[in-house]
Amino acid sequence: MRQTTCSEKQETFYWFSLEVKIAEKQKKRIIHVQNQAVYRIKLTTECFFWNIYDRKQKNKAMLILNNVHKSYVTGNNSLHVLKGIDLTIEQGEFVSIMGSSGSGKSTLLNILGLLDSYDEGSYYLNGTLIKDMNEKKAAKMRNELVGFVFQSFNLISFKNAMENVALPLYYKGVTRKKRNKIAMEYLEKMGIKEWAEHMPNEMSGGQKQRVAIARSLISKPKVILADEPTGALDSTTSYEVMGILSEINNEGITVILVTHEHDIAAMTQKIIRLKDGGISQIIKNGELRAFKNQYTKQLETA
Ligand code: ADP
Ligand code: MG
Repeated sequence: MRQTTCSEKQETFYWFSLEVKIAEKQKKRIIHVQNQAVYRIKLTTECFFWNIYDRKQKNKAMLILNNVHKSYVTGNNSLHVLKGIDLTIEQGEFVSIMGSSGSGKSTLLNILGLLDSYDEGSYYLNGTLIKDMNEKKAAKMRNELVGFVFQSFNLISFKNAMENVALPLYYKGVTRKKRNKIAMEYLEKMGIKEWAEHMPNEMSGGQKQRVAIARSLISKPKVILADEPTGALDSTTSYEVMGILSEINNEGITVILVTHEHDIAAMTQKIIRLKDGGISQIIKNGELRAFKNQYTKQLETA
């Protein structure tokens, strides 16, 4: 048997350790490649689910405003009313917009309802970008998606309650008989069926607002925009109207109302406060009680 020399042993050991190193390196490489593959699969899966989630979130959002600006220009003067509004309102929310007189509440509501344009930023309604839209397209979207309720009811004085409610269907080309029948169903829903033949000047404020709400609902909108709907009503009637709006919201319609009355705002799920052209505060459902207490305290110490 041949005696291995010391240097041979060293050499063998050298080669052996080199092989180990190479094997380790390869193993590491394999592990690295495996890890990369796993990571890639994980990333792809995550992206996949994120995309679904993101799309769902976007679908859920009824209105999205990003950095919306609006100025009114009269003569040489320009009044910057909305200074970068960022706001998302989801489908089925019941929201109130508050703020002092002149803070831009109606301006904001008119932009949301496609009654007015904005200068800068972006506004998505039900997933559609509303920008530089011509009046014909805006009117079509309004008819399909939005119902309006105003403080002064905006009923047509020479038409009776039923005809007022049926009016949006007239613009849609529905026959008189059919639209009057549907209008009667909505008047019944509002509890004022017996007032169908009455003219607006024969009705109380609360009855007129019920007619206006029925009219806003007849084209089956996804959003109801109400600008101070209780502003011209006594408190009992105001609460009744809020009850109706709440029921409408329970059916899944997004309701956004402008009010300066805290007790009315407190009946909604979320209060958005406008100040100096921006959103100064958003008070959510759970915080309403605290807000109410704080407000009552403020009244007591005023
Ligand atoms: P709010 O509803 O909160 O009381 P508005 O949105 O109606 O406030 O108005 C915000 C500001 O913009 C007010 O100072 C108002 O005078 C002004 N404004 C509203 N509409 C117009 C318009 N069409 N032209 C010029 N100024 C306007
Ligand atoms: Mg206003």
